[in-house]
Amino acid sequence: MKKVVKFGGSSLASAEQFKKVGDIIRAEESRRYVVPSAPGKRFSDDTKVTDMLYKCYGAAIKEKKFIDQLEAIKARYNEIIDGLGLDLSLDAEFDVIRENFGKKIGRDYAASRGEFLNGIIMAKYLGYEFIDAAEVILFDEEGHFDGDKTNEVLSKRLETVERAVIPGFYGAMPDGTIKTFSRGGSDLTGSIVAKAAQVDMYENWTDVSGFLIADPRIIANPKSIEAITYKELRELSYMGATVLHEDAIFPIRKEGIPINIKNTNAPSDKGTLIVEATCRHPKYTITGIAGKQGFASITIEKAMMNSEIGFCRKVLQVFEDNGISIEHMPSGIDTMTVLVHQSEFEEKEQKVLAGIHQAVQPDSIELESDLALIAIVGRGMRSKRGTSGRIFSALAHAHVNVKMIDQGSSELNVVVGVRNHDFENAIRALYDIFVTTRI
Ligand code: ASP
Repeated sequence: MKKVVKFGGSSLASAEQFKKVGDIIRAEESRRYVVPSAPGKRFSDDTKVTDMLYKCYGAAIKEKKFIDQLEAIKARYNEIIDGLGLDLSLDAEFDVIRENFGKKIGRDYAASRGEFLNGIIMAKYLGYEFIDAAEVILFDEEGHFDGDKTNEVLSKRLETVERAVIPGFYGAMPDGTIKTFSRGGSDLTGSIVAKAAQVDMYENWTDVSGFLIADPRIIANPKSIEAITYKELRELSYMGATVLHEDAIFPIRKEGIPINIKNTNAPSDKGTLIVEATCRHPKYTITGIAGKQGFASITIEKAMMNSEIGFCRKVLQVFEDNGISIEHMPSGIDTMTVLVHQSEFEEKEQKVLAGIHQAVQPDSIELESDLALIAIVGRGMRSKRGTSGRIFSALAHAHVNVKMIDQGSSELNVVVGVRNHDFENAIRALYDIFVTTRI
């Protein structure tokens, strides 16, 4: 058994957290490859080291004083080193960083030092080999992640390394320039290492015991999700559920490597298992509920629309020309509705309307704003009759008017559109019927 273990920033924010992490890693021989984030928040209004680095570098490029800020970052690391009683100095590393900041070497380089330095401490603490991600996580000349090359180089390197720490979040372009993934990108590094080392499991350690069925800001103490498929996860994360970086499943989804989301502060909790497919029956009909507010709808009406070839394409072209992405597109015989993000649409509204008039000469166009979309996701809905019935009766009982319905043919996902002010009420009604009363 071989595992990659990735630890998020809050799991590595202090010496105390490092000790918990050390205990977790030492508890299982199989935890051979470790991917650390930079130190995160120690308390709720603390600052993440990554944010400190961005700010410090921001001062450096404006030729403002940045040394004090860099010293404050160094103090964060020294607090960890001292708390762990390690015989380690990062003075030489900080000298190089100071010099490079002075040369305005790059924002990505600056941010990446958070993981780089934490990786050095982690390797020393565990007695594992340190592998600089710049040598094994590779980007092309244009700055795009090069998955094939990385896999070739990294898998070769790991063949001969029994135990290693590989910092998350960054890699390098062919000329050595440091490049980072988007924020939260250490999750991606974890997946990339999991694939290259062909591990049996990718454990992603964070500060919650897995995914929750619904947003805890809306539902008090929601149940957690025991097992979720990659597809379900995509649907839920797209709709706003955040625990894992959205792209983290791509490197391993074809490799059959499951991801286990675990809690560093409660290691015996099972967490959530993310898998390609599972024959485990979900406990409830639905796996999760997620949603987003702030949508607008544009309803276009024209008699005989359905027989006009190219009608939809012409309408969609107007949105494309204005750089607006489309979320959903329910349609009727003589109507089509396009749902978009209100913030993206508002500023271009009149241009879009004029464009639609010119393109398809509709009978009327109606706009509606302040809408929310809620996705009810679950493999358990497949071939199970009555799920939609339950969704709509729950919403009706909660006095929520449904503005739009969209069910994909995969039967994995039902999306309903409601008014923003009904959003929370709708989620509570759905949670209640599928989880609390469990029917
Ligand atoms: N430290 C980086 C961030 O704060 C990357 C990560 O934690 O995954 O976004």
